[in-house]
Amino acid sequence: MRSKVLLIYTGGTIGMMQDAKSGQLKPFDFKHLSEQIPELNKFDVSLSAVSFGKPIDSSDMSPDVWIEIAETIKKNYDKHDGFVILHGSDTMSFTASALSFMLENLNKPVILTGSQLPIGTIRTDGKENLITAIEIAAAKEKGKPVVSEVCIYFEYQLYRGNRTHKYNAEHFQAFQSPNYPILAEAGVHIKYNRSALKKVGTKKLNVQTKLNTDISILKMYPGISEHVVNAILGTKNLKALIIETFGAGNATTQQWFIDALKKAISKEITILNVTQCNAGKVEQGKYATSAAFNKIGVIGGSDLTSEAAVAKLMYVLGSTTKQKEIEKLLRSDLRGEMTI
Ligand code: ASP
Repeated sequence: MRSKVLLIYTGGTIGMMQDAKSGQLKPFDFKHLSEQIPELNKFDVSLSAVSFGKPIDSSDMSPDVWIEIAETIKKNYDKHDGFVILHGSDTMSFTASALSFMLENLNKPVILTGSQLPIGTIRTDGKENLITAIEIAAAKEKGKPVVSEVCIYFEYQLYRGNRTHKYNAEHFQAFQSPNYPILAEAGVHIKYNRSALKKVGTKKLNVQTKLNTDISILKMYPGISEHVVNAILGTKNLKALIIETFGAGNATTQQWFIDALKKAISKEITILNVTQCNAGKVEQGKYATSAAFNKIGVIGGSDLTSEAAVAKLMYVLGSTTKQKEIEKLLRSDLRGEMTI
């Protein structure tokens, strides 16, 4: 049986072609995908494609589009073996993280890919990214999918999506997964890292499309002022704030700062602590500069990336309004997004 893979085209550089007459970059028509990439005909995979109304640069990505993607997957889940989402690289880590939470009990591959150069340009990285992403989405062993989670495939590497971070705007290798091993590497063969891949489960897919965007993110810097912190914490309807702290979860020990967080927590605003370092994790209490966080109820986010923290908060706050439950979910590893 040939695997059936659905391509979902949202936009980004990958879907651009140079118009023969004008020379301009334009989104290409996905109905004629194999005309643009004849290599696709050589696959032993049955491919179909859907594209969203107007292709977007992923800097315009929003939770509404995440919902549209999640619903497209839900609608097509039983009819397909895997999904490839073509997406701009700028916010790909946010989308991959959001989908990982929204697609509960996912047991099929959902692979996001894109490129740094349009598919129509000679040196494009898009063809290899797309072709290998399709191969991974179609891969099965003993009738079961090899990959059963939301991933990013980019420049010969497959990553767990909610562990990634776009770290390079220039290199073809644009992504990193600093706190979780690479899931597969594509060379002559695609070598899967079996022990790092999520195991295929048996529960039924459950798609959650309620996301609460009443959150914000505050990056610590020496000299941060009381009025900046209070302005953010005073944001109308704010339900949660991510603090991006120094090193292993440290921030200023000034009393006004601790008091501001304490006051917010008393008003049921969740404070989630993630590190602004690229790798490593928050360990509240390791240094005196984070000990107060444990006392006042700041939640340590371990090695969550900021991208995954944003998506997790929107998902958790969309699932429940009960403070205890919110805290429990944030302290749990829900989709392999953090080490506990
Ligand atoms: N700005 C583009 C986007 O994220 C860049 C890319 O496609 O890689 O949509």
